[in-house]
Amino acid sequence: MDERDEALRAAHDAASAFLAGLPDRPVWPRAGLEEMRARFGGALPEEGGNAAELIRELAAGADPGLVAIPGGRFFGFVIGGTLPAALAADWLVSAWDQNSGSSTMTTATVALEQVAGEWILDLLGLPAGASVGFVTGAQVSNLVCLASARAAVLRRRGWDMARDGLTAAPRVRLVVGEHRHGSIDRAARILGFGTNDLVVAASDSEGRMLPAGLSAALEECDGDPVIVCLQAGEVHTGAFDPFAELIPRARAGDAWVHVDGAFGLWAAAAPGLSALVAGAEEADSWTTDAHKTLNVPYDCGMAIVRDPADSIAVFRTGGDYLMYASLDPWDLTPELSRRARGVPVWAALRSLGRAGVADLVERLARNAAALERDLRSIPGITVVNEVPFTQVMFRLGDDAATRALGAAILADGTAAVTPAEWAGRAVLRCSMSSWVTTDDDIARTLAAFERLVTTGS
Ligand SMILES: *Cc1c(COP(=O)(O)O)cnc(C)c1O
Repeated sequence: MDERDEALRAAHDAASAFLAGLPDRPVWPRAGLEEMRARFGGALPEEGGNAAELIRELAAGADPGLVAIPGGRFFGFVIGGTLPAALAADWLVSAWDQNSGSSTMTTATVALEQVAGEWILDLLGLPAGASVGFVTGAQVSNLVCLASARAAVLRRRGWDMARDGLTAAPRVRLVVGEHRHGSIDRAARILGFGTNDLVVAASDSEGRMLPAGLSAALEECDGDPVIVCLQAGEVHTGAFDPFAELIPRARAGDAWVHVDGAFGLWAAAAPGLSALVAGAEEADSWTTDAHKTLNVPYDCGMAIVRDPADSIAVFRTGGDYLMYASLDPWDLTPELSRRARGVPVWAALRSLGRAGVADLVERLARNAAALERDLRSIPGITVVNEVPFTQVMFRLGDDAATRALGAAILADGTAAVTPAEWAGRAVLRCSMSSWVTTDDDIARTLAAFERLVTTGS
Protein backbone atom coordinates (compact mmCIF):
# COMPACT_ATOMS: atom_id res chain seq x y z
CA MET A 1 0.00 0.00 0.00
CA ASP A 2 1.43 3.42 -0.85
CA GLU A 3 1.39 6.37 1.54
CA ARG A 4 -1.72 7.87 -0.03
CA ASP A 5 -3.82 4.73 0.26
CA GLU A 6 -2.62 4.17 3.78
CA ALA A 7 -3.57 7.73 4.76
CA LEU A 8 -7.02 7.39 3.17
CA ARG A 9 -7.58 4.11 5.00
CA ALA A 10 -6.50 5.72 8.27
CA ALA A 11 -9.00 8.56 7.66
CA HIS A 12 -11.74 6.04 6.82
CA ASP A 13 -11.08 4.02 9.99
CA ALA A 14 -11.03 7.14 12.17
CA ALA A 15 -14.24 8.47 10.59
CA SER A 16 -16.03 5.14 11.05
CA ALA A 17 -14.92 4.90 14.68
CA PHE A 18 -16.09 8.48 15.39
CA LEU A 19 -19.48 7.91 13.78
CA ALA A 20 -19.97 4.53 15.50
CA GLY A 21 -19.19 6.09 18.88
CA LEU A 22 -21.69 8.95 18.57
CA PRO A 23 -24.54 7.36 20.58
CA ASP A 24 -22.27 6.96 23.61
CA ARG A 25 -20.02 10.01 23.64
CA PRO A 26 -20.87 13.23 25.52
CA VAL A 27 -22.49 15.60 23.02
CA TRP A 28 -20.57 18.67 24.17
CA PRO A 29 -16.74 18.59 23.88
CA ARG A 30 -14.78 17.51 26.94
CA ALA A 31 -11.70 19.61 26.15
CA GLY A 32 -11.56 23.39 25.79
CA LEU A 33 -9.75 25.39 23.15
CA GLU A 34 -6.54 25.82 25.17
CA GLU A 35 -6.20 22.08 25.68
CA MET A 36 -6.76 21.50 21.97
CA ARG A 37 -4.16 24.13 21.07
CA ALA A 38 -1.67 22.52 23.41
CA ARG A 39 -2.14 19.19 21.61
CA PHE A 40 -1.72 20.52 18.09
CA GLY A 41 0.35 23.67 18.57
CA GLY A 42 3.96 24.60 19.14
CA ALA A 43 6.41 25.67 16.46
CA LEU A 44 6.03 24.10 13.03
CA PRO A 45 8.47 21.16 13.00
CA GLU A 46 11.38 21.48 10.64
CA GLU A 47 10.80 18.03 9.13
CA GLY A 48 7.52 16.64 7.78
CA GLY A 49 6.03 13.25 8.62
CA ASN A 50 4.28 10.21 7.23
CA ALA A 51 0.72 11.03 6.10
CA ALA A 52 -1.01 7.96 7.58
CA GLU A 53 0.73 8.34 10.91
CA LEU A 54 -0.19 11.96 11.26
CA ILE A 55 -3.82 11.26 10.27
CA ARG A 56 -4.00 8.70 13.11
CA GLU A 57 -2.42 11.27 15.46
CA LEU A 58 -4.80 13.97 14.25
CA ALA A 59 -7.88 11.82 14.85
CA ALA A 60 -6.79 10.64 18.28
CA GLY A 61 -5.76 14.15 19.31
CA ALA A 62 -8.96 15.81 18.13
CA ASP A 63 -11.30 13.34 19.80
CA PRO A 64 -11.93 15.10 23.16
CA GLY A 65 -12.54 18.42 21.36
CA LEU A 66 -15.11 17.07 18.90
CA VAL A 67 -18.82 17.90 19.22
CA ALA A 68 -21.33 15.12 18.53
CA ILE A 69 -22.96 17.23 15.81
CA PRO A 70 -23.72 14.25 13.51
CA GLY A 71 -25.32 12.36 16.44
CA GLY A 72 -28.98 12.22 17.45
CA ARG A 73 -28.95 14.57 20.45
CA PHE A 74 -27.31 17.73 19.15
CA PHE A 75 -30.13 20.29 19.19
CA GLY A 76 -28.10 23.54 19.30
CA PHE A 77 -28.34 26.44 16.82
CA VAL A 78 -29.84 24.97 13.60
CA ILE A 79 -27.44 22.24 12.53
CA GLY A 80 -28.20 19.11 10.56
CA GLY A 81 -26.42 15.77 10.61
CA THR A 82 -24.99 14.04 7.55
CA LEU A 83 -26.73 11.45 5.39
CA PRO A 84 -24.45 8.51 4.45
CA ALA A 85 -24.73 9.13 0.70
CA ALA A 86 -23.94 12.83 1.17
CA LEU A 87 -20.89 12.10 3.32
CA ALA A 88 -19.51 9.53 0.91
CA ALA A 89 -20.12 11.88 -2.04
CA ASP A 90 -18.31 14.63 -0.15
CA TRP A 91 -15.25 12.37 0.20
CA LEU A 92 -15.31 11.81 -3.55
CA VAL A 93 -15.56 15.55 -4.13
CA SER A 94 -12.30 15.99 -2.19
CA ALA A 95 -10.60 13.13 -4.00
CA TRP A 96 -11.72 14.41 -7.41
CA ASP A 97 -10.60 17.97 -6.54
CA GLN A 98 -12.65 19.53 -9.32
CA ASN A 99 -12.54 23.33 -9.33
CA SER A 100 -16.19 23.60 -10.29
CA GLY A 101 -16.77 27.05 -11.75
CA SER A 102 -16.63 26.22 -15.43
CA SER A 103 -19.25 24.38 -17.48
CA THR A 104 -16.65 23.80 -20.19
CA MET A 105 -14.04 22.19 -17.98
CA THR A 106 -15.59 20.38 -14.99
CA THR A 107 -18.51 18.84 -16.85
CA ALA A 108 -19.28 16.01 -14.42
CA THR A 109 -19.54 18.10 -11.27
CA VAL A 110 -21.26 21.06 -12.96
CA ALA A 111 -23.87 18.68 -14.43
CA LEU A 112 -24.43 17.09 -11.01
CA GLU A 113 -24.88 20.55 -9.43
CA GLN A 114 -27.23 21.67 -12.20
CA VAL A 115 -29.40 18.60 -11.74
CA ALA A 116 -29.32 19.02 -7.94
CA GLY A 117 -30.42 22.64 -8.42
CA GLU A 118 -33.31 21.61 -10.67
CA TRP A 119 -34.43 18.98 -8.14
CA ILE A 120 -34.28 21.57 -5.34
CA LEU A 121 -36.45 24.03 -7.31
CA ASP A 122 -38.96 21.25 -7.97
CA LEU A 123 -39.04 20.06 -4.33
CA LEU A 124 -39.37 23.58 -2.91
CA GLY A 125 -42.05 24.59 -5.42
CA LEU A 126 -39.89 27.37 -6.88
CA PRO A 127 -39.93 28.49 -10.52
CA ALA A 128 -38.02 26.21 -12.90
CA GLY A 129 -35.40 28.30 -14.62
CA ALA A 130 -34.33 30.22 -11.51
CA SER A 131 -30.56 30.30 -10.97
CA VAL A 132 -29.20 28.17 -8.14
CA GLY A 133 -25.79 29.30 -6.91
CA PHE A 134 -24.03 26.92 -4.53
CA VAL A 135 -22.45 28.90 -1.70
CA THR A 136 -21.07 28.11 1.75
CA GLY A 137 -24.37 28.73 3.52
CA ALA A 138 -27.37 30.95 4.06
CA GLN A 139 -25.24 33.89 5.21
CA VAL A 140 -23.52 34.13 1.83
CA SER A 141 -26.76 33.28 0.06
CA ASN A 142 -28.46 36.25 1.71
CA LEU A 143 -25.56 38.42 0.54
CA VAL A 144 -25.78 37.11 -3.04
CA CYS A 145 -29.55 37.53 -3.22
CA LEU A 146 -29.56 41.03 -1.72
CA ALA A 147 -26.72 42.15 -3.99
CA SER A 148 -28.68 40.86 -7.00
CA ALA A 149 -31.80 42.56 -5.68
CA ARG A 150 -30.15 45.94 -5.25
CA ALA A 151 -28.75 46.03 -8.78
CA ALA A 152 -32.15 44.93 -10.14
CA VAL A 153 -34.27 47.56 -8.34
CA LEU A 154 -31.79 50.23 -9.44
CA ARG A 155 -31.93 48.98 -13.03
CA ARG A 156 -35.71 49.35 -12.96
CA ARG A 157 -35.11 53.03 -12.14
CA GLY A 158 -32.75 53.36 -15.08
CA TRP A 159 -29.55 53.13 -13.02
CA ASP A 160 -26.79 50.76 -14.21
CA MET A 161 -24.93 49.90 -11.01
CA ALA A 162 -22.30 47.77 -12.75
CA ARG A 163 -21.30 50.78 -14.85
CA ASP A 164 -22.04 53.77 -12.63
CA GLY A 165 -21.54 52.40 -9.14
CA LEU A 166 -23.43 53.53 -6.09
CA THR A 167 -22.09 56.91 -5.10
CA ALA A 168 -24.68 58.91 -7.03
CA ALA A 169 -27.33 56.15 -7.27
CA PRO A 170 -30.90 56.57 -6.04
CA ARG A 171 -31.32 55.54 -2.40
CA VAL A 172 -32.42 51.89 -2.04
CA ARG A 173 -34.45 50.96 1.05
CA LEU A 174 -34.29 47.57 2.75
CA VAL A 175 -37.43 46.50 4.61
CA VAL A 176 -36.75 43.81 7.20
CA GLY A 177 -38.79 42.08 9.89
CA GLU A 178 -38.26 42.76 13.57
CA HIS A 179 -37.15 39.12 13.97
CA ARG A 180 -34.97 38.74 10.88
CA HIS A 181 -31.87 36.56 11.20
CA GLY A 182 -28.60 38.34 12.07
CA SER A 183 -27.14 37.29 8.72
CA ILE A 184 -29.52 39.73 7.00
CA ASP A 185 -28.01 42.61 8.98
CA ARG A 186 -24.50 41.43 8.17
CA ALA A 187 -25.27 41.04 4.46
CA ALA A 188 -26.84 44.52 4.50
CA ARG A 189 -23.76 45.98 6.19
CA ILE A 190 -21.39 44.42 3.64
CA LEU A 191 -23.55 45.93 0.89
CA GLY A 192 -23.34 49.37 2.48
CA PHE A 193 -26.76 49.61 4.14
CA GLY A 194 -26.37 51.22 7.55
CA THR A 195 -28.66 50.52 10.48
CA ASN A 196 -30.54 53.72 9.68
CA ASP A 197 -31.18 52.56 6.11
CA LEU A 198 -33.13 49.54 7.40
CA VAL A 199 -36.87 49.98 7.63
CA VAL A 200 -38.10 47.59 10.30
CA ALA A 201 -41.58 46.09 9.92
CA ALA A 202 -43.32 45.06 13.14
CA SER A 203 -43.73 41.36 13.95
CA ASP A 204 -46.16 39.46 16.15
CA SER A 205 -45.20 37.60 19.33
CA GLU A 206 -43.99 34.53 17.39
CA GLY A 207 -41.75 36.64 15.15
CA ARG A 208 -44.02 36.72 12.06
CA MET A 209 -44.06 39.97 10.09
CA LEU A 210 -47.42 41.72 10.44
CA PRO A 211 -49.12 42.74 7.16
CA ALA A 212 -49.96 46.14 8.67
CA GLY A 213 -46.30 46.41 9.72
CA LEU A 214 -45.19 45.83 6.13
CA SER A 215 -47.65 48.42 4.80
CA ALA A 216 -46.38 51.02 7.28
CA ALA A 217 -42.77 50.21 6.36
CA LEU A 218 -43.47 50.52 2.63
CA GLU A 219 -45.10 53.89 3.22
CA GLU A 220 -41.97 55.04 5.02
CA CYS A 221 -39.90 54.21 1.91
CA ASP A 222 -41.63 57.09 0.18
CA GLY A 223 -41.30 55.90 -3.41
CA ASP A 224 -37.61 54.89 -3.18
CA PRO A 225 -36.60 51.56 -4.75
CA VAL A 226 -37.35 48.85 -2.16
CA ILE A 227 -36.19 45.34 -1.24
CA VAL A 228 -38.37 43.43 1.24
CA CYS A 229 -36.76 40.60 3.26
CA LEU A 230 -39.17 37.94 4.49
CA GLN A 231 -38.43 34.81 6.48
CA ALA A 232 -39.42 31.14 6.38
CA GLY A 233 -38.47 29.73 9.79
CA GLU A 234 -37.53 32.07 12.64
CA VAL A 235 -34.54 30.57 14.50
CA HIS A 236 -36.19 30.64 17.95
CA THR A 237 -39.82 29.88 17.20
CA GLY A 238 -39.70 28.31 13.74
CA ALA A 239 -42.43 30.79 12.70
CA PHE A 240 -43.14 31.62 9.05
CA ASP A 241 -44.05 35.04 7.68
CA PRO A 242 -47.55 35.03 6.08
CA PHE A 243 -46.25 35.16 2.51
CA ALA A 244 -49.61 35.07 0.75
CA GLU A 245 -50.62 38.28 2.54
CA LEU A 246 -47.24 40.02 2.47
CA ILE A 247 -45.91 39.43 -1.04
CA PRO A 248 -48.85 41.04 -2.92
CA ARG A 249 -48.46 44.13 -0.69
CA ALA A 250 -44.74 44.31 -1.46
CA ARG A 251 -45.45 43.83 -5.17
CA ALA A 252 -47.94 46.68 -5.14
CA GLY A 253 -45.03 48.86 -3.98
CA ASP A 254 -42.85 47.53 -6.83
CA ALA A 255 -40.48 45.93 -4.31
CA TRP A 256 -38.10 43.00 -4.84
CA VAL A 257 -39.04 40.26 -2.38
CA HIS A 258 -36.38 38.07 -0.82
CA VAL A 259 -37.17 35.07 1.41
CA ASP A 260 -34.61 33.81 3.93
CA GLY A 261 -35.65 30.18 4.30
CA ALA A 262 -32.36 28.71 5.53
CA PHE A 263 -34.15 25.77 7.13
CA GLY A 264 -37.85 26.65 6.83
CA LEU A 265 -38.15 26.63 3.05
CA TRP A 266 -37.93 22.83 3.24
CA ALA A 267 -41.47 22.76 4.64
CA ALA A 268 -42.50 23.03 0.98
CA ALA A 269 -41.14 19.51 0.37
CA ALA A 270 -43.47 17.90 2.94
CA PRO A 271 -47.17 17.73 2.00
CA GLY A 272 -48.22 17.95 5.67
CA LEU A 273 -46.26 21.16 6.23
CA SER A 274 -46.24 22.95 2.89
CA ALA A 275 -49.09 25.27 3.93
CA LEU A 276 -46.53 27.05 6.13
CA VAL A 277 -44.75 28.41 3.05
CA ALA A 278 -47.79 28.98 0.81
CA GLY A 279 -47.16 32.01 -1.37
CA ALA A 280 -43.38 32.09 -0.82
CA GLU A 281 -42.89 30.90 -4.40
CA GLU A 282 -44.03 34.36 -5.59
CA ALA A 283 -40.81 36.01 -4.33
CA ASP A 284 -37.85 37.11 -6.48
CA SER A 285 -35.07 35.37 -4.56
CA TRP A 286 -34.71 32.70 -1.90
CA THR A 287 -32.03 31.61 0.51
CA THR A 288 -31.80 28.06 1.74
CA ASP A 289 -29.26 25.70 3.23
CA ALA A 290 -28.51 22.11 2.35
CA HIS A 291 -26.36 21.59 5.47
CA LYS A 292 -29.32 22.10 7.81
CA THR A 293 -32.60 20.34 6.97
CA LEU A 294 -31.27 18.28 4.05
CA ASN A 295 -28.42 16.88 6.19
CA VAL A 296 -25.47 17.24 3.85
CA PRO A 297 -22.04 17.98 5.40
CA TYR A 298 -20.75 21.53 5.82
CA ASP A 299 -20.60 23.75 3.93
CA CYS A 300 -23.50 24.06 1.53
CA GLY A 301 -26.20 26.64 0.90
CA MET A 302 -28.07 27.84 -2.18
CA ALA A 303 -28.70 31.34 -3.50
CA ILE A 304 -31.78 31.12 -5.72
CA VAL A 305 -32.73 34.02 -8.01
CA ARG A 306 -35.90 33.96 -10.15
CA ASP A 307 -34.32 35.59 -13.20
CA PRO A 308 -30.71 34.35 -13.66
CA ALA A 309 -29.94 37.61 -15.49
CA ASP A 310 -30.28 39.41 -12.14
CA SER A 311 -27.56 37.34 -10.44
CA ILE A 312 -25.33 37.31 -13.52
CA ALA A 313 -25.53 41.11 -13.74
CA VAL A 314 -23.66 41.31 -10.43
CA PHE A 315 -21.52 38.19 -10.34
CA ARG A 316 -20.32 37.56 -13.91
CA THR A 317 -16.58 37.20 -13.67
CA GLY A 318 -13.79 38.08 -16.07
CA GLY A 319 -10.38 36.80 -17.16
CA ASP A 320 -9.17 36.15 -20.69
CA TYR A 321 -7.58 32.87 -19.58
CA LEU A 322 -10.85 31.38 -18.31
CA MET A 323 -13.18 29.37 -20.52
CA TYR A 324 -16.79 30.49 -20.70
CA ALA A 325 -20.08 28.87 -21.62
CA SER A 326 -23.50 30.55 -21.67
CA LEU A 327 -23.98 29.95 -17.94
CA ASP A 328 -21.10 29.03 -15.66
CA PRO A 329 -21.38 28.46 -11.90
CA TRP A 330 -18.79 31.19 -11.28
CA ASP A 331 -21.19 33.74 -12.78
CA LEU A 332 -23.75 33.25 -9.98
CA THR A 333 -21.79 33.67 -6.74
CA PRO A 334 -18.81 35.68 -5.41
CA GLU A 335 -16.40 32.72 -5.67
CA LEU A 336 -14.10 31.88 -8.54
CA SER A 337 -12.32 28.70 -7.39
CA ARG A 338 -14.38 26.36 -5.26
CA ARG A 339 -15.10 22.73 -4.43
CA ALA A 340 -18.10 20.95 -6.00
CA ARG A 341 -20.21 21.40 -2.89
CA GLY A 342 -23.43 20.71 -4.78
CA VAL A 343 -22.47 17.08 -5.47
CA PRO A 344 -23.39 15.90 -1.93
CA VAL A 345 -26.78 17.59 -2.50
CA TRP A 346 -27.30 15.45 -5.60
CA ALA A 347 -26.33 12.36 -3.57
CA ALA A 348 -28.60 13.26 -0.64
CA LEU A 349 -31.60 13.85 -2.91
CA ARG A 350 -30.89 10.75 -5.01
CA SER A 351 -30.61 8.59 -1.87
CA LEU A 352 -33.85 9.90 -0.35
CA GLY A 353 -36.08 10.36 -3.38
CA ARG A 354 -39.03 12.73 -3.25
CA ALA A 355 -40.84 10.62 -0.65
CA GLY A 356 -37.71 10.35 1.48
CA VAL A 357 -37.23 14.14 1.57
CA ALA A 358 -40.88 14.61 2.59
CA ASP A 359 -40.49 11.95 5.26
CA LEU A 360 -37.27 13.53 6.58
CA VAL A 361 -38.83 16.99 6.95
CA GLU A 362 -42.01 15.59 8.51
CA ARG A 363 -39.98 13.49 10.94
CA LEU A 364 -38.03 16.55 12.14
CA ALA A 365 -41.30 18.39 12.84
CA ARG A 366 -42.76 15.29 14.57
CA ASN A 367 -39.64 15.09 16.77
CA ALA A 368 -40.14 18.73 17.76
CA ALA A 369 -43.79 18.07 18.63
CA ALA A 370 -42.81 15.02 20.72
CA LEU A 371 -40.16 16.97 22.61
CA GLU A 372 -42.59 19.83 23.22
CA ARG A 373 -45.24 17.46 24.60
CA ASP A 374 -42.77 15.72 26.91
CA LEU A 375 -41.15 18.98 28.11
CA ARG A 376 -44.60 20.24 29.14
CA SER A 377 -44.89 17.24 31.47
CA ILE A 378 -41.83 18.35 33.53
CA PRO A 379 -43.00 20.54 36.44
CA GLY A 380 -41.63 24.08 36.22
CA ILE A 381 -40.83 24.00 32.51
CA THR A 382 -42.79 26.32 30.21
CA VAL A 383 -42.68 25.90 26.43
CA VAL A 384 -42.59 29.44 25.03
CA ASN A 385 -43.41 29.05 21.31
CA GLU A 386 -46.18 27.53 19.20
CA VAL A 387 -43.87 24.88 17.61
CA PRO A 388 -45.18 24.95 14.03
CA PHE A 389 -42.04 23.33 12.64
CA THR A 390 -38.69 22.13 14.05
CA GLN A 391 -37.88 24.65 16.81
CA VAL A 392 -38.82 24.26 20.49
CA MET A 393 -38.11 27.05 22.98
CA PHE A 394 -38.65 26.77 26.72
CA ARG A 395 -37.69 28.10 30.12
CA LEU A 396 -37.53 26.92 33.72
CA GLY A 397 -38.82 29.52 36.18
CA ASP A 398 -36.76 32.73 36.16
CA ASP A 399 -33.79 33.67 33.98
CA ALA A 400 -31.20 32.42 36.48
CA ALA A 401 -32.86 28.98 36.72
CA THR A 402 -33.15 28.77 32.93
CA ARG A 403 -29.47 29.66 32.42
CA ALA A 404 -28.40 27.18 35.12
CA LEU A 405 -30.40 24.40 33.45
CA GLY A 406 -28.79 25.30 30.10
CA ALA A 407 -25.28 25.07 31.59
CA ALA A 408 -26.20 21.81 33.39
CA ILE A 409 -27.42 20.00 30.29
CA LEU A 410 -24.20 20.83 28.39
CA ALA A 411 -22.03 19.72 31.32
CA ASP A 412 -24.12 16.55 31.68
CA GLY A 413 -23.37 15.71 28.04
CA THR A 414 -26.60 13.87 27.25
CA ALA A 415 -27.80 16.48 24.76
CA ALA A 416 -26.80 19.87 23.37
CA VAL A 417 -29.50 22.48 23.88
CA THR A 418 -28.31 26.07 23.58
CA PRO A 419 -29.22 29.30 25.40
CA ALA A 420 -30.78 32.38 23.85
CA GLU A 421 -33.03 35.31 24.67
CA TRP A 422 -36.61 35.85 23.60
CA ALA A 423 -38.74 38.88 24.45
CA GLY A 424 -36.06 40.03 26.88
CA ARG A 425 -35.96 36.77 28.84
CA ALA A 426 -33.57 33.83 29.00
CA VAL A 427 -34.70 30.74 27.10
CA LEU A 428 -33.30 27.43 25.95
CA ARG A 429 -33.88 26.42 22.38
CA CYS A 430 -33.83 23.07 20.62
CA SER A 431 -33.67 22.61 16.90
CA MET A 432 -34.71 19.27 15.43
CA SER A 433 -32.54 19.14 12.35
CA SER A 434 -30.89 15.74 12.25
CA TRP A 435 -32.04 12.70 10.30
CA VAL A 436 -30.55 10.37 12.97
CA THR A 437 -32.61 11.57 15.95
CA THR A 438 -34.75 8.68 17.22
CA ASP A 439 -37.54 8.35 19.79
CA ASP A 440 -34.89 6.95 22.12
CA ASP A 441 -32.75 10.11 21.70
CA ILE A 442 -35.76 12.22 22.68
CA ALA A 443 -36.52 9.95 25.65
CA ARG A 444 -32.88 10.15 26.83
CA THR A 445 -32.94 13.95 26.52
CA LEU A 446 -36.20 14.18 28.46
CA ALA A 447 -34.89 11.88 31.21
CA ALA A 448 -31.78 14.08 31.56
CA PHE A 449 -33.90 17.25 31.85
CA GLU A 450 -36.18 15.58 34.37
CA ARG A 451 -33.21 14.52 36.47
CA LEU A 452 -31.54 17.95 36.26
CA VAL A 453 -34.76 19.78 37.14
CA THR A 454 -35.67 17.56 40.11
CA THR A 455 -32.23 16.87 41.62
CA GLY A 456 -30.20 19.72 40.14
CA SER A 457 -27.47 17.32 39.04
C1 LIG B 1 -28.79 29.39 9.89
C2 LIG B 1 -29.50 30.56 9.33
C3 LIG B 1 -28.82 31.52 8.56
C4 LIG B 1 -27.32 31.47 8.34
O1 LIG B 1 -27.00 30.29 7.70
P1 LIG B 1 -25.52 29.72 7.53
O2 LIG B 1 -25.75 28.48 6.77
O3 LIG B 1 -25.03 29.49 8.93
O4 LIG B 1 -24.72 30.73 6.81
C5 LIG B 1 -29.57 32.53 7.99
N1 LIG B 1 -30.89 32.61 8.19
C6 LIG B 1 -31.57 31.73 8.95
C7 LIG B 1 -33.05 31.89 9.12
C8 LIG B 1 -30.89 30.67 9.55
O5 LIG B 1 -31.55 29.77 10.28
